[in-house]
Amino acid sequence: MRLHVGNLMKVKDGEERLSLGGGEFLAGMAELAGGHGLTVAEAEFVGTLHNGEGMVSMRGRARLTLGGDCYRCGKAFGGMKVACAVKETFALTDGADGKAMVASGTAYPIEERRIDICRAIWENAMVETPAKLLCRVDCMGLCPKCGADLNEGPCGCGGPVVEA
Ligand SMILES: [Zn+2]
Ligand SMILES: [Zn+2]
Repeated sequence: MRLHVGNLMKVKDGEERLSLGGGEFLAGMAELAGGHGLTVAEAEFVGTLHNGEGMVSMRGRARLTLGGDCYRCGKAFGGMKVACAVKETFALTDGADGKAMVASGTAYPIEERRIDICRAIWENAMVETPAKLLCRVDCMGLCPKCGADLNEGPCGCGGPVVEA
């Protein structure tokens, strides 16, 4: 979701409250999540955009409900809640400062007076999300020998013994 900030940028020290959820915002988050093999059931962002000189700063909190496939047993699961604070800067890239900030990764670009708010929120949320998602903390995974789901009990194939 690319948010238009042209009007905000016309106002010196202008501030805009944001309360996003569902619709286009959720679709944008789901698209980014899909690239990581994840799904998004719910997405919400509440915060503000502030216009500085050639820059827009974003502050707020995001909450997501994610789903994915368990790293150990491969089963799909949902309902994983991720919450994070978001504090990011977007900069115009036509000035040297803004260009340097975007190049160094300290700011996201403002392109055609629009900012990619979903990407900024998603990248913050990913910091709070474990790289290897588990359907539950004590997921036993699959038997490496027969492939049975050990969460459903011992497989009985005589493969590696799982200690109780
Ligand atoms: Zn699992
Ligand atoms: Zn087995």
